[in-house]
Amino acid sequence: MAQPMQADVLVCGGGVAGAMAAVAAGRRGARVLLLERYGFLGGNATAGAVAQFNSWQTAGGRRVVAGLAQEVVERLRAYGAAAAHEVFVMSTGHRMDRVEYAPEVLKLVLDDMATEAGVQLLLHASLLDVEREGRRIARARALTKGGVVEIRPRVVVDASGDMDAMQKAGAAFLPLGNDESLQPATMMFRFGPIDFERLDALPPAELAALARRGYEAGALARAALHVARDPFSQDGWFNISRLAVDATDALALGRAEVEGRRQAWRAAQYLREQVPGCAAGRLLAFGTQVGVRETRRVQGDHVLTAGDLLAPAAFEDAIAAGAYPIDIHPAAGGELEYAALGDDHAYQIPYRSLCPAGLDNALVAGRGISATHQALAAVRVMTISMAVGQAAGTAAAMTAAGDNAVRGVQAGALRAALRETGAILA
Ligand SMILES: Cc1cc2nc3c(=O)[nH]c(=O)nc-3n(C[C@H](O)[C@H](O)[C@H](O)COP(=O)(O)OP(=O)(O)OC[C@H]3O[C@@H](n4cnc5c(N)ncnc54)[C@H](O)[C@@H]3O)c2cc1C
Repeated sequence: MAQPMQADVLVCGGGVAGAMAAVAAGRRGARVLLLERYGFLGGNATAGAVAQFNSWQTAGGRRVVAGLAQEVVERLRAYGAAAAHEVFVMSTGHRMDRVEYAPEVLKLVLDDMATEAGVQLLLHASLLDVEREGRRIARARALTKGGVVEIRPRVVVDASGDMDAMQKAGAAFLPLGNDESLQPATMMFRFGPIDFERLDALPPAELAALARRGYEAGALARAALHVARDPFSQDGWFNISRLAVDATDALALGRAEVEGRRQAWRAAQYLREQVPGCAAGRLLAFGTQVGVRETRRVQGDHVLTAGDLLAPAAFEDAIAAGAYPIDIHPAAGGELEYAALGDDHAYQIPYRSLCPAGLDNALVAGRGISATHQALAAVRVMTISMAVGQAAGTAAAMTAAGDNAVRGVQAGALRAALRETGAILA
């Protein structure tokens, strides 16, 4: 085995949360190693082809997410690869906003941001195991084409979505509650060309009826025809399939990939045959992998709950804000559980939800933070994941520059550093 690699901050997983964590830490001068199993960054945002960043503002239009996430959008726009910020009304009546983008170009943007921040990319590398010394992660090993690589980090940010580093470190995880199951995964697919003028002219009630008919006929796995437009073409990325799976179970995940492609194919036929504006379209691509909404959630110093979001708690250690509603896709059935929020309703995420219990030199970011199933159903979106990633990376760099203990970071100093870099915290 080659010499161990040294890093101030090791970020495991290069989804949007990990990428922002790495960039934030790199910009503060930390030596950052970003470990990612694919050859590109983005996770669900690129490999999963989600294609729209949702919820930058409250229903009434108050901005709650900016910082590095906003920079991502500006850089996408510089490539011509992000649509205008758009506000629309959901079938539930809730006002929502989004930015559609080209997932392939997001790979370039994340490459640019990471390399400019001096982040060392260890791509095509899967986390193999981590070794603890008491309450610290002393070593991590990754499996690469060239063999096993050992990394000796001062601080670890687990942004692997599935919280693989935490699992290998023996961290505690939150259970699912009664009557809960993991949110389903979805195989996104690209379809086109679409006559969007015709499709958009359909009254919402008619579109909803078409979706319901497709669901009842077994052509659609959910009663929805959600599409994010590709900024470069007349194609769209459709979010229609629904796969009940624990994505940390390799065999089950493989079955979900197969079933996801089948569901997407059937949905594409329905689009062609039944949906106005789609007759000339073809299924052009699947996501590189099924998009995964939820797997492991870490037990942290604070467990963010639906109550914290709905009667919004003001946290002294708030490191990010959000306004995306609690949006639960049941594993079976066509409907969404969607708790719309009031016009000026926003909520906060505390630093303590990024601090895994029992570990002194680790933080978590993205869809595995310490949150209940219901709370994660809101804070998992990419806007908020990026904001949390920025906070985790900033805190990790501060930790590595200080006494190497994540709980030694002063909330006031962290919040000030985040505000200085454009983040919104309330
Ligand atoms: C189908 C679907 C639709 C969605 N729709 C929207 C939407 O419209 N708008 C919105 O804003 N959000 C949406 N979301 C939510 C959002 O996409 C995710 O919650 C968010 O992208 C999570 O980011 P993350 O960085 O935490 O995790 P991930 O995107 O899961 O990234 C984890 C990264 O870690 C890597 N990794 C994992 N394990 C290892 C390992 N062992 N070794 C090395 N690397 C590893 C992965 O390859 C990946 O790059 C949707 C999600 C899904 C699945």
